Amino acid sequence: MRRLIAALLACAAWAAPTVAPAAAQTGPQALADAYPDAVARVDAKTLYWRDGTHLPLGSPAPRDFATMLRDASLYDQLRLPYPAGAPLAPPAIDDDPGRFRDSAFFDRLYGDCRRGEVAPHLVPVVWLPRTWGRTVRFTAIAGAARALATVSRALDALPTAETRMLYPPAGTYVCRAVADTGRRSMHGWGAAIDINTRFADSWYWHPDQRDTPVWHNVIPADIVSIFEAHGFVWGGRWYHYDTMHFEYRPELFAHPATD
Ligand SMILES: [Zn+2]
Repeated sequence: MRRLIAALLACAAWAAPTVAPAAAQTGPQALADAYPDAVARVDAKTLYWRDGTHLPLGSPAPRDFATMLRDASLYDQLRLPYPAGAPLAPPAIDDDPGRFRDSAFFDRLYGDCRRGEVAPHLVPVVWLPRTWGRTVRFTAIAGAARALATVSRALDALPTAETRMLYPPAGTYVCRAVADTGRRSMHGWGAAIDINTRFADSWYWHPDQRDTPVWHNVIPADIVSIFEAHGFVWGGRWYHYDTMHFEYRPELFAHPATD
């Protein structure tokens, strides 16, 4: 029996994932790698769309947090490394990898929802086909809906204690601003999903946490790692945490996987 246990332990050690990689800092090239159908190339100052237009990257020098939150450049968008695969733990102060978003970039990529440009690209994705089986709407642009469908099928194989945290989803597309910044969230581009609010927590739901968020999370690593394997960042990795929130941001992964 002891030998069997030793063998099982050895097997488990061999099969265990290697040490979680450190958060990878991606540079402007990641934008071309992550969105190849839309982005032709980048250089140190400019992103060139395939339609011949271009967008400045901004300054590589960091700016203050509030400015980057409200008016991010593409350099700001990539500034904070996303710790994919790392243990789930309270983030450092103002470590919000993914919350800086260049609106001009995403408006050009997915459309401006205020002008009705996003909705025509939304397609149905069956959420948890075995467990819940209803559809949510997600943008088909940049492989986002395809990635969500892959995530959905993988999540559906998790134990019931975990899948029950995933439905009913609290929403995907909605053309609105983020409460605390006044900027549109990825929900406005049809590229974010909120899971069951009953298992979620957010710094913004606690008036006493407005200055100092106190991280609280019950979402297991199994769920987070499936999303991250397909290019989604999790709001639970933000100092300003939002644990029901996942958004498609393949440019923040060194090796984005969309299938
Ligand atoms: Zn959300």
